[in-house]
Amino acid sequence: MEADRDVIIIGAGAAGLTAAQYAARANLNTLLLEELAPGGQCLIIDNLENYPGFPDPLPGIELSQKFEEQARNFGAEILTSSVQSVSKHGKLFTLDTDSGPLTAPTVIVATGAKHKKLGIPGEEQFSGRGVSYCATCDGPFFKGKRMLVAGGGDAACDEAMFLAKLTDQVIMVHRRDRFRAQRALAERTLKNPNIEVRWNTEAKAIKGDGKVEGVVLLRNDKNETYEEKVEAVFVFIGSIPQTQVVKNLEVKMDEAGYIVTNQRMETNIPGLYAVGDVRATPFRQLVVAAGEGAIAAHAAAQHIDELKGEAYV
Ligand code: NAP
Repeated sequence: MEADRDVIIIGAGAAGLTAAQYAARANLNTLLLEELAPGGQCLIIDNLENYPGFPDPLPGIELSQKFEEQARNFGAEILTSSVQSVSKHGKLFTLDTDSGPLTAPTVIVATGAKHKKLGIPGEEQFSGRGVSYCATCDGPFFKGKRMLVAGGGDAACDEAMFLAKLTDQVIMVHRRDRFRAQRALAERTLKNPNIEVRWNTEAKAIKGDGKVEGVVLLRNDKNETYEEKVEAVFVFIGSIPQTQVVKNLEVKMDEAGYIVTNQRMETNIPGLYAVGDVRATPFRQLVVAAGEGAIAAHAAAQHIDELKGEAYV
């Protein structure tokens, strides 16, 4: 079985970097491909407070760097390259990449998910000029200003609390009358004196002249529309799994488009694994993503042994 690598991992977030670390440590010839900087979503987390082993709040960027360092220390190669597609011929996968075609008997998809957009007038127009999907990145530009946060999940609560450190005027709108976020986060958001939560409220348009100056809000239980002056709109309404790389393979996905795997993180295609936010999982957390990366690397090593007839049974 002639292949360029034993395992190729696509995406260097927490899941991909952990898979790379475990695969390299298991002595697999491991390549990790990432089109941007290694770290994934973890890079933009202001302060992590629930990653085990770090009792004091830890900037996400620091943890990302540690993940990367550990993977490299065990011998994983990390290459900046984007993957256009993956195909399978016999027992080998071929990845069509910016660095040319690459082959491996196992591939771990760790491509994550990207933020969802509201799809309302003004959102595209003011993107980068007051409309943002990352509080840590853009919040400091609006220090002391009136800001709007749209969403009701963990991300919206986390990011609203970050923004509430920069201003005492955060308005949070959620389309229903209670948060989807975990109870602890939801309670802290509601108690924060700098956050005003408006239930049953949807952003319908973003207005301004060259930059964001206000939003049109709909109180959906009363069918009342009104305008609110804000200088920034932060959108945290969930994510879309990034599955384009496997478009040529008949990979099983759930109704929301997340990749379905068994408990070994293997998809319906032997040798193809999915981990982290791109996978159908009940709980999207860094620690879960890292755990899934470890399982997939272990399963990939076993799969290679089986292909070589060296499996210990
Ligand atoms: P999420 O859990 O899917 O929540 C999305 C929120 O946006 C929901 O409240 C939803 O409303 C609302 N929403 C969706 N589409 C909307 C639309 N078109 N207009 C207005 N509102 C809309 O997404 P998330 O908060 O990004 O979290 C994603 C995953 O990452 C979750 O598994 C989460 O647990 C995890 N995460 C965890 C942490 C943490 O543990 N600290 C932090 C961030 C993210 P409905 O409730 O009405 O559906």
